[in-house]
Amino acid sequence: MTLDTLTFDLDDTLWDNQPIMEHAELGHFTWLNEALSARFPELTTTQGSFADHFPLESYLARRQDIARLYPTRRSDFTWIRRHALFDSLIDYGLSSQDARHWSDAAIERLLELRHQLRPFEGVESLLKTLTQRYRLGAITNGNADLKRLSLDAHFDIIVSAGEMHMPKPEPAPFLFALDRLGSTPDTAMHIGDSWKEDVLPAHQLGMQVAWIAPLGSTTDSLPARVHRLAHVNELPGLLARLAA
Ligand SMILES: [Mg+2]
Repeated sequence: MTLDTLTFDLDDTLWDNQPIMEHAELGHFTWLNEALSARFPELTTTQGSFADHFPLESYLARRQDIARLYPTRRSDFTWIRRHALFDSLIDYGLSSQDARHWSDAAIERLLELRHQLRPFEGVESLLKTLTQRYRLGAITNGNADLKRLSLDAHFDIIVSAGEMHMPKPEPAPFLFALDRLGSTPDTAMHIGDSWKEDVLPAHQLGMQVAWIAPLGSTTDSLPARVHRLAHVNELPGLLARLAA
């Protein structure tokens, strides 16, 4: 069966996500702490800074609690962060109006920092070439906005699975993308780095899978239709081999 459709995971498939998220995590939290100290000096004087009360670790713990409380939104990371910041700001002593304003502002700062990323070398031209032959979709649990990265023009559909409350590894975001692309699993390939969230669900649906494999992971006994690549730039070679 000839492939006509490619769906891509984003984080750690088209760019290296960990450093950018570490930068954004610390950056927006530090920004919020400093902004609050400047805006509410009396609070800082009487009870210490926001970060004294809610260090970064408790921000993370609060997010984990919220994800457990709202399982259907467990992959809507922006919503969870906003919720955690709002609750912490209320506990710190802000009015709900101020807590809303400052949690929104911190999230906006987070999203700015989060999009200061660079796709891997060659990704843009790779996508551009692939659009000549394939319909392209993006399926992400994360909060990267391809519009902000000027990569949206290459994709016929972008599925923000986390924000749509159907996170991978559920089959729903794959089926939704394929349906919107007018395709079926037997003529489609998914490309992603996560064995659990990309490879397994796409394989179970009957798609071909290009697994962007982390260093050191095993190559033993891959299932049929699962192909291991060290880097997304190896994709054209794989597609050529499959078409031969
Ligand atoms: Mg990924």
